[in-house]
Amino acid sequence: MYTLLDGKAVSAKLRGQIKINVDKYKKATGNDIGLAVVMVGENPASAIYVRNKIKACEEVGIKSYAYYLKENTSQSDVENLVCCLAEDKKVNGILVQLPLPKHLNEEKILSLIPAVKDVDGFSLENTGKLCLGVNCLAACTPHGVMKILEEYKIDVKGKRAVVVGRSNIVGKPMAMLLLNADATVTVCHSRTQNLQEECKNADILVAAIGKPKFIKSQMIKDGAIVIDVGMNRDENGKLCGDVDFDNIKDKCSYITPVPGGVGPMTITMLMYNTLQSAERE
Ligand code: NDP
Repeated sequence: MYTLLDGKAVSAKLRGQIKINVDKYKKATGNDIGLAVVMVGENPASAIYVRNKIKACEEVGIKSYAYYLKENTSQSDVENLVCCLAEDKKVNGILVQLPLPKHLNEEKILSLIPAVKDVDGFSLENTGKLCLGVNCLAACTPHGVMKILEEYKIDVKGKRAVVVGRSNIVGKPMAMLLLNADATVTVCHSRTQNLQEECKNADILVAAIGKPKFIKSQMIKDGAIVIDVGMNRDENGKLCGDVDFDNIKDKCSYITPVPGGVGPMTITMLMYNTLQSAERE
């Protein structure tokens, strides 16, 4: 019998704790905590993400500053805005919603966010610190996975963890967080040979691939803990993960559902990082 890892419940609990600490911070300093969100263009998916981030800010008492820039905004105008926000004392965190329109140099723009305000945890400094295992703002989605494991008292120490996916925003930071927590970590990707064998060795399997129901029952060890980061649409347009949930769940000791698993944690960890950012200052 498996236990469902309820990311929605973990997220709600954590938001409650964040709100308490945001209030404490405001009382102690007399200042608000501020998150600036910059969106360029009209990507409908990005618009939903930005709206949800602003809603989450309201929920936990963080002040949000939203900047909606036109699709054809120039590189220098976006850079100037990010530089102003970097200097702005009211702003503790800066988030540039990705993807940016093609004509903009994303790397250059992101590099202007100071590490202390890099609440997405994507900067060179935060990524480097994560690799060194020192205190940093960690990427929200993998950080959220660690919080779920922590909440369910799943000790990763000494366990064999396999991360499928090596993106800079999910797979790599996920592997680092697990390694820093003393798991023995293997990272797999599209060129991995014998993926099934690698996955079958996993006490903890994290799927961050972007392919609907890719992880099948024969890839799972009995009693494995399975974390599904994927957010895809199946053949009927229904939201589904990278894991074939219905077919593998009975082999697992713990498994995250999609929706309601890792997804709700990402924005919550953004709030968490923004609070951290303010507290560190
Ligand atoms: P990317 O496309 O950047 O990375 C996908 C990774 O999967 C790559 O490393 C790729 O390998 C690997 N991969 C692809 N095909 C295979 C295969 N056949 N076998 C083994 N590995 C494979 O995706 P992201 O990391 O950005 O996202 C992954 C998933 O997580 C997506 O479904 C995305 O929607 C979801 N996501 C969910 C979030 C949430 O809040 N829940 C947040 C962010 C992402 P290679 O490097 O060799 O190409």
